[in-house]
Amino acid sequence: MPDCLFCRIIAGEIPSKKVYEDEQCYAFYDIDPQAPTHFLVVPKAHIQSAAAITAENEAVVGHIFTVIARLAGELGFAGRGYRVVSNIGEQGQQTVPHLHFHVLAGRDMTWPPG
Ligand code: AMP
Ligand code: ZN
Repeated sequence: MPDCLFCRIIAGEIPSKKVYEDEQCYAFYDIDPQAPTHFLVVPKAHIQSAAAITAENEAVVGHIFTVIARLAGELGFAGRGYRVVSNIGEQGQQTVPHLHFHVLAGRDMTWPPG
């Protein structure tokens, strides 16, 4: 396993507040929430970022979006809308190099993002 914060969270070595888990992905609340609801959905397999998605690992991305849509319904914010964001690399302001999708809900978002 690479020495990776999110791999260690998935492994249970670092505590997190779990939203959802299955064999392919793990979802947990962001430690520094930027909206009333803010959680992250990550593949259990270590993938550096969305820039490292290939024909070999692309299926997990579709799965994660299926999970997000289901959670949005279950957690009650699907109707009002929400935002899914994945930061990539240095200028994209990615701080943890393990692919993750931010799910933000519960307030009006602004555009363009900063
Ligand atoms: P990014 O900056 O897009 O790479 O997103 C990384 C996110 O991980 C940030 O929103 C952080 O607040 C969040 N984060 C960092 N450490 C933890 C942790 N231990 N538990 C939950 N979220 C974390
Ligand atoms: Zn990792």
